[in-house]
Amino acid sequence: MNYMRRLKAQRLDHTIGEEMDLGGGFCVICGAGPPLVHDRMCEKCLRKRITVVKLSDTVQHFRCYRCGLVEVQGRWIEIPDDDLWEELIQRSLEVHKEAEQFSFSLAPQRIDDRNTRLHLQVDAIVHGLQFTENHSLLARMSNGVCLTCTRRAGNYFEATVQLRSAGRRLEEHELTEMRASLDEMLSGMNPDPMFFVTSEGTVQGGYDLVVGSKSMARTWGRHLINRWGGHLKETKSVVGRKDGIDLTRLTLLYRRPAFDVGDVIRFRQTLWRVGSWSSDGALIHKVERAERIGVSWRDLEKSVVISRQRDHTVVDLLRFDTSAGEFLNPRNWKMETIRLPYAHQGEMTLRLADIEGDWLALPQMAVDIPKEEEE
Ligand SMILES: [Zn+2]
Ligand SMILES: [Zn+2]
Repeated sequence: MNYMRRLKAQRLDHTIGEEMDLGGGFCVICGAGPPLVHDRMCEKCLRKRITVVKLSDTVQHFRCYRCGLVEVQGRWIEIPDDDLWEELIQRSLEVHKEAEQFSFSLAPQRIDDRNTRLHLQVDAIVHGLQFTENHSLLARMSNGVCLTCTRRAGNYFEATVQLRSAGRRLEEHELTEMRASLDEMLSGMNPDPMFFVTSEGTVQGGYDLVVGSKSMARTWGRHLINRWGGHLKETKSVVGRKDGIDLTRLTLLYRRPAFDVGDVIRFRQTLWRVGSWSSDGALIHKVERAERIGVSWRDLEKSVVISRQRDHTVVDLLRFDTSAGEFLNPRNWKMETIRLPYAHQGEMTLRLADIEGDWLALPQMAVDIPKEEEE
C-alpha cells in the first residue's frame, strides 16, 4: 500500500487554477495596497494565517511483541517501515482544504526501539501561493499481542495433521520437504489469523502438527496428495457444544506412499516406474516395453519399491547399436555392455537402476528431466 500516493491523488483532484483576487482596495488586516491575494488580504497577511498541514505531536501504533505484526486499521499485518510511517502520517495529518498540488517527503529518524521521529516536508499551493512547511511527528510503538499469538498462547487448535507413510518410516528429508511445503503454501495464500501451528513434533512413525484452522489443515492435505500422492483419512471428534452447534476437532491422517514419482517398483512380478499420481492411485509405466496402466492405492499396497529415483545413476554411453550399449561401470571403471531401454532414441546418456546388484537401463520419463536440472 502506498498511502502517500493515495494522498497525492486525492489532492490532485482539486487542482483547478485559482485566480488571484486582483481587485482594488486595501488589505483588511494591515491596510497595504494591492495586489490582494485572497479574502481581501495581502500576501504577507495571508501567509501568516495559513497552515497547510496540521499534525499531532505523537502517534501511537501497536506491534505484536511475539511475532512483529503491526496493527493497521484494526488488522494485524506485516508492513515495511516506510509504509508504516506513511500510514501513521495519513492517520495524524489534516491538510488545508484549499491545498493544491500537495506533496510531502519524509525522513524517519530512529530515536530508540520504540520511538521514531518522522520529519516531514510539505509542499502545496494555497490560494495561488506556494507553501513549504516542515513538521515532525513522534511515532511511538507499544507492545501488543496479535490475534494469532493470543490464540497460539492459549494453545487454541482446531485440527491435527498426522504425517505418516505406508508401511515404513518417513525419512528425515521427506519430513523436511513436507513441512516446508506448508510454509510455502501459507506464503502463497492470503494471511489468515487462524493459519498457525500451535505445536508440532516427531512422533512414533511420523510427525504431528496441531494447527489453528480446519481449512488450513484440509488445504495442506490436498497439497500433500497433489505433490506426493497417497491418501488422507479424515476423523472428526465432537469436543463440546456452543450455541446449539457441535464443536468439532479434525484429525487428518496423511499417508505418503512408500514410493515417489520416478521410482522403480515391482508390481505383479513386473518392474514399473511410477509416472504420475491419479485421483485414486498412480499411473505406472512398464520398464520393459511401452505400456501404461492406472493402479489404485489398494492394489499398490502390494507393490515393492525396488529402486528409488534418487538412487539411480546416469552414465554416458560410449557406443551403442540398436539393442545394446557400452558404458564405464562407475563402481569399478570397467567397460560393460547393457541392453538399451525400449524407448532409446540415440541419447548419449543412460539412466541405470541397481536391481539386486545388476544394472538395468530405464526408459526416459518426463519426471527425469526437471530432477536432473535441480541437481
Ligand atoms: Zn496585509
Ligand atoms: Zn503476533
